Amino acid sequence: MFDKNKALSKLKEIRDLYLAEDLNMAPYSNFKLGGPADIYIRPQTEEAFIAAIQVIRKEDWPLTVLGRATNVLISDRGIRGIVCQLSPDMARIDINDDQLTASAGARLSDIAARAAAAGLAGLAFSSGIPGSVGGAVVMNAGAYTGKMEDVVASSQYMDARGEVHVLEAAEHNFHYRGSFFNDHKDHLVINTVFQLQPGPVGEIYDEMADIALRRYQSQPLNYPSGGSAFKRPPGHYAGKLITDAGLKGFWNGHAGVSDKHAGFIIQDGKATASEVLEVFRIVQTKVHEEFDVMLYPEVKFIGDWQEEMPLRDSE
Ligand SMILES: Cc1cc2nc3c(=O)[nH]c(=O)nc-3n(C[C@H](O)[C@H](O)[C@H](O)COP(=O)(O)OP(=O)(O)OC[C@H]3O[C@@H](n4cnc5c(N)ncnc54)[C@H](O)[C@@H]3O)c2cc1C
Repeated sequence: MFDKNKALSKLKEIRDLYLAEDLNMAPYSNFKLGGPADIYIRPQTEEAFIAAIQVIRKEDWPLTVLGRATNVLISDRGIRGIVCQLSPDMARIDINDDQLTASAGARLSDIAARAAAAGLAGLAFSSGIPGSVGGAVVMNAGAYTGKMEDVVASSQYMDARGEVHVLEAAEHNFHYRGSFFNDHKDHLVINTVFQLQPGPVGEIYDEMADIALRRYQSQPLNYPSGGSAFKRPPGHYAGKLITDAGLKGFWNGHAGVSDKHAGFIIQDGKATASEVLEVFRIVQTKVHEEFDVMLYPEVKFIGDWQEEMPLRDSE
């Protein structure tokens, strides 16, 4: 049973923990949508994160952990229980020889920039992905020239009881847009060590600039979105199927399919999360009817949804 007042008073005892009540989540998610979180916390340090999670687990309070919320659609009714958002505050980055260690809340663009400045190659691919280290490890985020599984050496994480462990590279069980953490949803990334290679600084910056340009030219970065709406179905590209189904540029009220990149579902700033969800469902249904291919969402639907969800896969 979630006792909000008890949770507030226990969490207030923890140092370096920003805390708010009934906080509207829209400004804190890349889709710019979502109702209130009953309790919202943002740890400033890994120690505060561990302390808060240990209290929450002991009391068995409902918990949703977010990085930069760039891969989620939050319900209009919001999120019951406690939301713990790690970015932007829990963002330590250390470099030791050719290894970079980052807290789960560090931005991918920041770790890529720090590695480049230190003449370490391997993270340029991540520079334009708007998420955090934790979210990227969970999702095995990747783009153009690389993916997380190419560079992760180990991660420190908390299990369902709040105990801290280390996961070595191979134990992450990385696969397309998933990892060990998708199969163990109550396990939380605290920090990750990346194994990088010394490289010419100029070449690393050139690679980052090239990727930034390709992203700018091909993605609707001026609209709120959750990135690629659907996972790539085997043997196909989601964007091409959606285009061929005639849905590129389709709008349902204030939410629609980008006419720049049909793989992105976007909103114009006035949509509700329900309207966006409806676009997911329309696209999924039409593509299935036309091509007998099922598109499964890459975006995660978070919070108190009562609407019928688009069909999910096993993740
Ligand atoms: C414009 C745009 C472009 C994008 N381009 C790409 C791309 O090129 N490649 C790509 O792979 N993705 C891309 N994405 C999607 C997204 O940025 C990545 O998946 C990113 O890694 C998610 O990180 P996040 O911090 O935002 O995670 P969130 O959205 O906050 O969370 C994602 C999931 O991870 C869980 N999670 C977050 N942090 C932790 C943690 N510390 N421990 C355990 N679980 C955690 C959450 O509970 C949630 O289930 C794009 C998104 C946008 C909006």
